[in-house]
Amino acid sequence: MDPSVERLLRSLQAAGVRRLPAPRRAPGASRPAEAARAAPGVEPPSRARVTTPAYRAPAASTPGLFSSARAAPPRPSDPAAELLAVAAEVAACRRCKLCEGRQHAVPGEGSPQARILFVGEGPGAEEDRTGRPFVGRAGQLLDDILVKGMKLARQDVYIANVVKCRPPGNRVPEPDEVAACAGYLDRQIAALQPAVICALGSTAARRLLDDERPLSSLRGRTHEFRGLPVIVTYHPAYLLRNPSAKALTWQDIQRVMELARRG
Ligand code: SF4
Repeated sequence: MDPSVERLLRSLQAAGVRRLPAPRRAPGASRPAEAARAAPGVEPPSRARVTTPAYRAPAASTPGLFSSARAAPPRPSDPAAELLAVAAEVAACRRCKLCEGRQHAVPGEGSPQARILFVGEGPGAEEDRTGRPFVGRAGQLLDDILVKGMKLARQDVYIANVVKCRPPGNRVPEPDEVAACAGYLDRQIAALQPAVICALGSTAARRLLDDERPLSSLRGRTHEFRGLPVIVTYHPAYLLRNPSAKALTWQDIQRVMELARRG
């Protein structure tokens, strides 16, 4: 079983979830329920055998696909089960070429009741190895921000990425990859309906805001993604290379905490 799905299953079992919704499938994709089937105590959505289809290139991206002005999809009746369904689909996903080099897909992790959602760019080497988001050096810095700065634990927030599979050599995800993966992040946001989204770095900011301006022009104010407040700040990997930007990041994080308290 994919380790990220296993962890999510365990947390949902602890929360009393016993039945999962049927997963949505991309046209032509096979059923992704293999991971959920092996979980004791949680009834999987399907008993179909999983096959591994060839990578299917997505259709050309739709203009305005990421538009923050689009209406927010309704919150699913069972957000925890929806997050698990997304994780199971991501674990089996072959919608873009990033599936070809991954060890593990990294759907994201955290509390289904999180008031704060952090969105990064994509998994790195350590994340690809473990199936968990932000566990390398940048992840340790994010943990410091959470624990020392915000007085929160990882389990109090939700952490996800724009793309769920590692781009080769940690390159920036390409537009077709971001487009292919967009539905997963959209569903995670719809399930969580967080009080505030914190975009970590320019890839996450562009994805959520549909705005090509540099990050320095986007941070310092509150944006909106489909009715939800968005704060833009530096990616922890950037802070490792540019420690002087930590002071500005702390200003952004204070604004995130203010919105989380208010929302
Ligand atoms: S990056 Fe996203 S769309 Fe591409 S294979 Fe991974 S989960 Fe699927």
